[in-house]
Amino acid sequence: MLYYKTPEEVELMRESNLLVSKTHAAVASFIKPGRTTDYLDNIAESFIRDHQAIPAFKGYNDFPATLCISVNEQVVHGIPGKRELREGDVVSIDCGVEKNNYFGDSAYTYALGEIAPAKMKLLRITKEALYKGIEQARSGNRVGDISYAIQFHSEKMNGYGVVRDLVGHGIGRHLHESPSVPNFGKKNAGLRLKKGLVIAIEPMINLGAYQVIQEEDGWTITTKDKTISAHYEHTVAICTGEADILSTFKFLEEEIKKNIELVEIQ
Ligand code: MG
Ligand code: MG
Repeated sequence: MLYYKTPEEVELMRESNLLVSKTHAAVASFIKPGRTTDYLDNIAESFIRDHQAIPAFKGYNDFPATLCISVNEQVVHGIPGKRELREGDVVSIDCGVEKNNYFGDSAYTYALGEIAPAKMKLLRITKEALYKGIEQARSGNRVGDISYAIQFHSEKMNGYGVVRDLVGHGIGRHLHESPSVPNFGKKNAGLRLKKGLVIAIEPMINLGAYQVIQEEDGWTITTKDKTISAHYEHTVAICTGEADILSTFKFLEEEIKKNIELVEIQ
């Protein structure tokens, strides 16, 4: 089932995604060595509830936390806990909220302190791949145009592994709606995009091979070859021209500049 949103619904989704983006910023200011991941999760949960909204991931298929925090070789769906972050970690944080019955969803991968140039490049290319995908997200194009653009930039141009088992998705009154938005695929294939469709585009890119495994906790997805992975995600509304990006990295990137422990992705 595909749900096309009215302009009023897109505005409600903008509000949900603005809160997601500000939650990321609230968390970013606290990322530092020695900090546990559940400390960051508590900040996010309080921030979201203080803004009359609900953490979207908490309780979703029994996921126990507000954020997914996935460190180094963990790709996505890491469960916050007692793990302490360390200098040199690559930290992916995914956040979703439900506000006024509409969902927002966005993810960002941080470099905590100095990391090897090869790792830094993976983060930069994955973030670039997200925007290459968003460039293709317009009315008249097809889902495959987004998929191909992401795969071309990360796999073909840079030799990274594009995760196959997890994909982007439609979003609205549900966290996950149709269509699936894979990060690999063929140009001019798949669903034709129409104004009003709102999708989460989220490349998950591995420094090594694309294969992943699920950890015994039933959630955490890890690269099979234990190389690091990066994940960036925006929620975007399809328009006749350029997509309307409803989430933003602006606030969290301002926090990265202020937080001396974090290194800017560039
Ligand atoms: Mg997400
Ligand atoms: Mg998502």
